Parts: sequence; structure tokens; C-alpha cells
Amino acid sequence: MPDAWEGAAREDLDMGDVAAVAEEVAGQTSHMNEAAAALAREKGWAEPQKYNYDVYNASNKPREAGTEDGAAAPVWACNAAKYEWKEEYGDVGPRNEELEKMLFRSDYHNRAGDKFEHLREIKVTAETTHQPQPVKSFDDAGLHPIMLENVKLCGYAVPTPVQAYSIPAIMNNYDLMAVAQTGSGKTAAFLIPVLSKLMGKAKKLAAPRPNITEGFDSSLQGVRAEPLVLIVAPTRELVTQIFDEARRFCYRSMLRPCVVYGGGPIRDQRMELQKGCDVLIATPGRLIDFMDKPHVLSLSRVRYTIIDEADEMLHSDWDQEFVKIMSGGDTNEDADHRYMMFSATFNKDCRELARKYLSNDYVRIRIGRAGSTHLNVSQQVFYTEDNMKKQCLYDLLLAMPPSRTLVFVNSKSQADLLDDYLFNMGLPSTSIHSDRTQLEREDALRAFRTAKSPILVTTGVAARGLDVKNVMHVINFDLPSCTHGGIDEYIHRIEGRTARIGNEGLATSFYNDRNDDISADLVKILIESKQPVPDFLQSEVPEGELTFDDDTDNEGDGNGEEASGDAYGDAYADPATEYSNDTAAAAVETPAPAEKVNTGAAW
Ligand code: AMP
Repeated sequence: MPDAWEGAAREDLDMGDVAAVAEEVAGQTSHMNEAAAALAREKGWAEPQKYNYDVYNASNKPREAGTEDGAAAPVWACNAAKYEWKEEYGDVGPRNEELEKMLFRSDYHNRAGDKFEHLREIKVTAETTHQPQPVKSFDDAGLHPIMLENVKLCGYAVPTPVQAYSIPAIMNNYDLMAVAQTGSGKTAAFLIPVLSKLMGKAKKLAAPRPNITEGFDSSLQGVRAEPLVLIVAPTRELVTQIFDEARRFCYRSMLRPCVVYGGGPIRDQRMELQKGCDVLIATPGRLIDFMDKPHVLSLSRVRYTIIDEADEMLHSDWDQEFVKIMSGGDTNEDADHRYMMFSATFNKDCRELARKYLSNDYVRIRIGRAGSTHLNVSQQVFYTEDNMKKQCLYDLLLAMPPSRTLVFVNSKSQADLLDDYLFNMGLPSTSIHSDRTQLEREDALRAFRTAKSPILVTTGVAARGLDVKNVMHVINFDLPSCTHGGIDEYIHRIEGRTARIGNEGLATSFYNDRNDDISADLVKILIESKQPVPDFLQSEVPEGELTFDDDTDNEGDGNGEEASGDAYGDAYADPATEYSNDTAAAAVETPAPAEKVNTGAAW
């Protein structure tokens, strides 16, 4: 306790004394913070950046689309630059060097890490009668030449397991349910085949659009958006990420992606739709808003509906909206309409969805055991009483080499408080939660991505799907309680962030008696992923074999005879394939630990 507080505890203080004491305390605290900040600098952490409220409050200011750093004026993620097609282009548009740089060569783009091999070893099970023959390389997948080039520009050397199966299933016109964790490459698993199939046909299938490269006046040239592909995902962060990936895969094609999400600028989003939209990525609420304006959006042309993180969407209470979206707003009569669902678990509600919306011969694949953690996340659990957590966090951060770190808390107020604490201790932190404005959320993520603020304090809002390069450390400042996601939430937090596409990561959790409800499940996960079980959790180690509450579909789903097998293992791990392990290893270089990048040596 600062000395001055001793005095403040006296009962005989007058107001003058209180003011003097407050000043003295402020002086001592600031002195303490200066010392803490000096230590943080010594340990290599960058200076914290002050939030410029003036800039962000001026959210109506026109902004330049595609600006990556956002320092001068914030950019809405939905306005990011995309390839704009001109009528006079033949089948393939010319290259655009500046855009290419932005889309494919940004420093902050997540790339395959040196643990990519772990991902390739993950077992895939095709659980339905039809078992797609997994593709061993993108070259053999029958992709449109422009898609193949875009895949190469992305630096993807070989398909991940979920891609190896979903690409042939989608290319052969099957509906699909993929039970796959975030970070497994599932966005590309649906975008690559779906967009590739449409690339040759876009001119025939797509709605007319204005030639916007010469300027655009929405009142004169605006069209109704009639997308061919509809992708729905539960969070704003996730849809903007899918949009970013779609911008890459649509490059040099006529397909024009747009994203709409709540909290974002509805005027800008409508304007983008009015320029023409072939691939619409949306959160459910904002999508329904636009569906209620038939002159702005019609789903009558949609050929592919994709629901990402389906299990998460089912948590929210939006059954009616779901029916409306899946039916294409009553106007879609296309018999060729294909449906795909991606989900981290295949629980009862998801099974129900699959039964209801997917065709009888749909393909279901499962990547690894749903709910298990990748081997390449090291996990440690520390016993920490609540009143010591802040100090422990500070000590932990200073004990580690500076790296991108996600700190999870269980409440919005805790996120604010902890962000303030770290900031005042001289650490470069920022925070995100659902009470922030969308612009603040996007800005915080941008600061985290670009490492201006490499420490992000967050509630579960970012727990799903956040794809940031080199998040090396996830800290569960608060472990999730069983009433708020429990062990599934723990897995999403740690697995989806670190170890994305094979990047190695560390997960640290603060545990005390209040987390008793998650202890048994936590211990099982630690054992399953071959991590040490601390002494204080030894009593939870189960006797005999580990059993999990798996979500295998034992009820039958009218999808014919169940058949399963590790077909992927056979076809993929075969050293005689042209993508031998050597070739893959050459493509996935092992660079210096701080910056793990794929140099694309195989190309
Ligand atoms: P997702 O599971 O879709 O969130 O993807 C996680 C990350 O993997 C993203 O940064 C993708 O760009 C990257 N990725 C997807 N497919 C591949 C691949 N075949 N090779 C390397 N990286 C990939």
C-alpha cells in the first residue's frame, strides 16, 4: 500500500488533507507505473499506443478503401479493396500489382507454420456412404486455372485435410457437412471449390452490373445485388475474415465479393451491394435486414449456401431467420442449390439441421476428434487466486519474449479494467468486447494484427474464428465456466488462436477453486494432448481409459449405411505421391522463431 494511504485511513482528515493525499498517491502510483513501463521496455515490449478518440469518433468521415494501417483515418473492413471487373475483359482479368501486394503479400497475413505436418497427420473420417477420394494436391483438384493461380499466390502448397476432402465433394456437386475445427483451413475448404466452379460460368449466371471502374453513381447505376453464393457466419470478425479470404480467391475473376454485418456502416454496405455482388458474406441479423429490402438484395440466384460455425449459430435464438435464409427468401427455385455446413461439433441440433436442409446423399466428414486440441499447442495451468491474477499476468508477460498474446476474460468490465491495468503498467495492450462500437472493434483488431498493440484483452467475442498471424500465447486470465461454454469454449479459445495452420503456440490458464466445475474436463484435455497435469489437479486424473462425450451420430440420419475409414491417411501420407513429404517440407520453410512464414519455395 502506498505510504500516503496510511494517513488516509485516519478519521480526522479534512478535505484539504484528502486532496493532498490523493496527489501524493497519484505521484507514487505514476512513479510505480514508470518503473513498470521501464521494465516492460527493457524486456522488449513496445510502447503502448494511446487511443485517438477524435479520429474514431469521426466515423462518418469518408475513408479510403483498402488502407491497411488505418492510422490516419479508420477504414471499415467492409470497404476493403477488391478486384473490379471491366466489361471488356475476356475470361480472365489482367493483374493488378498494387492490389496483389495488398491481398497476398501483406506482412500480417497468416501463413503455414512449421508444424503444418501435424495438421496433415490429423485423421479424417468420411462418415457417410459416399466417400470422396481426397485430393493430394491443388494441381490435381480440377480447379479453374485462375483459382489455381490464386491458391499459389496465397502460398498454399498442399491442401489441408479438410480441404483434401471437401474440394472433391463440392466439385462433384454433393452437399457437405464438415465437422472441423477453426484453424484447419476450412474457409478455403469451401471457398476454393465453390468459387472455382463458378469462375467459368460467372458471365452466364451472374446478374448484370455497372461498369464501376469509371466512377459510380448509385442512384443512376446501382443494381440489385443477386449473389450466387451466400455465406453466413455468427460473428462480425469471422465474416470480415471470410471476406478477406474471398477477396483473394476472387482475384482476376468476375466474381465480386461483399460483406455485410451489424454495427458496420449500412450506407457503405448498401452501396457496395449496389455495385453488384456475386458472393455475399453476412452475419444473420444484417442479412435479414437487407433481405427485407428486396430492391437491394435478392437471393433468387443463390446456388451455394454455406453456414459456417453452424453449432455456434444454433446457440443464438434465430430459428425463424434460419428458415428464411436457408429457403433463399422464398424466391430461390434453383434445383441445383447446394448447401454446406461447417461446424466445430456435430451435436444434436446440428444433426437436426443436416437432416432438414442437406440432400439425402450429403457427404459428412470429420476432421480429428471434434473437441480435441491440436498437439502443437503447449498448455500450462497455474494455480492463481483471484486477487493475484493481475500481478501474475504482468509477471508472466514480462517473463516471456514479447509476442502476440490474447488474454481472455469472462466479462466486459473485466476486459476494460485489465486493459487499463496493462496499459498503465506500460504494456502495449488493447481490448475488444461487444459493448464497443464496431469501428472500435475493427480498430482494436487491426492494432493487434499489425502488432501495434500485440496484447489483446478480449471476452469470448473474439473466441471464434479469429485468424491472426503469430498469436504465440493465449492466456485464460479467467477460465470459462461450465455455464459459459466450459471446455468447448476453452478449446475454441486456445486452439483457434495459437496453432492455426500449424503454428506452434502456448496456452496458459489461471486456475483456482472457483474453476472447479471445469477441472475434470480440463484434465482430460491435458492428458489427451499429452500435456503435464499440475499437482493441484491430480485428483481429477481418471482411472482407466479416457472417455469423451463425443458427438458421433449414433442416431442414424437417414443418410444410408454408415461407413467410415481413415481414407485420408492412406491417400495423403503416401510418400510416393507427387507432393511427397520432402516437397511439402520445402514449401513450408522453418524461419526464425519470431516470424514464421511460408516463402512459397515450392513455386
Ligand atoms: P481457417 O481454418 O479457414 O480459419 O484458416 C486458417 C488459416 O490457414 C488461414 O490463415 C488460411 O489463410 C490458412 N490456410 C488455409 N489453407 C491453407 C493451406 N492449404 N496451406 C497453408 N495455409 C492455409
